[in-house]
Amino acid sequence: MLFDPRPKERRSEIFDRDEEIKALLEGMKNYPITLLIGIRRVGKSSILRVALNECEGIGIYIDARRLYSTGGSVSQAALVGEIRNILAGKGHVGFLRGISVERVTIAGVQLKPRETTFVDLLEFLNSLGRKAGKKVIIAFDEAQYLRFYGSRGGKELLAAIAYAYDSLESLGFVFTGSEVGLLHDFLGLEDYSSPLYGRIYEEVEVKPFRRELSREFLRRGFEEVNMRVPAEEIEAAVEELDGIPGWLVEFGFHYWKRGDFERALDMTMRKARALIREELLELEKRSGRYKLILHAVAMGLTSWSSIKDYVEARAGPITNARLSELLRNLEKMGWITKEEGKYRIIDPIVEKVLKE
Ligand code: ADP
Ligand code: MG
Repeated sequence: MLFDPRPKERRSEIFDRDEEIKALLEGMKNYPITLLIGIRRVGKSSILRVALNECEGIGIYIDARRLYSTGGSVSQAALVGEIRNILAGKGHVGFLRGISVERVTIAGVQLKPRETTFVDLLEFLNSLGRKAGKKVIIAFDEAQYLRFYGSRGGKELLAAIAYAYDSLESLGFVFTGSEVGLLHDFLGLEDYSSPLYGRIYEEVEVKPFRRELSREFLRRGFEEVNMRVPAEEIEAAVEELDGIPGWLVEFGFHYWKRGDFERALDMTMRKARALIREELLELEKRSGRYKLILHAVAMGLTSWSSIKDYVEARAGPITNARLSELLRNLEKMGWITKEEGKYRIIDPIVEKVLKE
């Protein structure tokens, strides 16, 4: 059902996106590394899950954001544990009986077995794939959170993946990211100092729906739940919500459940507000000035100097270098974009919430 608010898992549940799924499947098949990028709520997780379900290989889906949010960092033990659970769920129990669970007893003293490393696991998965004659696809959703892996900004993890890239040919990796620039920075495929420097990869971009597709999405969604919705309402909803499937689903769901157009739009905006506030709080932890900058841009202060005036009037002096850095970070995190020297907020709903 299109208006189901959870990420989709099967192609029959998803609207459009055949091209993106095809590109991702080809990436999985032909490249050791594929990136799936796009702003929040555009449909990356859905596309990834559908592709993992359809690919010829053995798909392993890991939500890096969830791994991070359980402890504020991502430990090797948590990652290994997560993959193990997934393997157990798929019926691959062999590894569970491997080195890491058996206790070794020497002269009556029980020794704690060596902790299974991520590299052990990759080697195991590689042999699993080789035996099955299939590629094992390890997909990290919202992979920019892996920079919180270990104590060196995720370098150990990248080194393990670089090793897999070079030596474990039955493995493939997918990384998705809403914070596109952060993902690129983390992976460092173009960064000389990164373990993954110079590796070949495919990149698939997921864009918001165009106007006509957004209308069609809503029409189809309402049709599915047997609702007749006037064309003006579809038009007005798309005008308000634009082409980001996450917001369209939210609206469709509420209209379907409540039968009240205004109320559904209202509830969607309320939900958006709550989600965006949460994300802004996350941002403020990194720097209090991020929110000020976003407010400035949302209010139409699009030039570098007007943003600077706005921020300084409220939070005191800021150096040019620091402001540039914060702006660059906001671009990398997918909040703003710069065109012809002017900044703007990418997601129109975010812009509305910021203006309130
Ligand atoms: P992302 O991972 O990019 O944040 P999700 O895949 O979680 O996006 O999608 C956000 C919401 O939009 C979910 O409710 C999902 O079900 C819905 N959605 C996204 N793309 C589609 C699509 N093509 N068809 C139907 N629903 C979609
Ligand atoms: Mg997602």
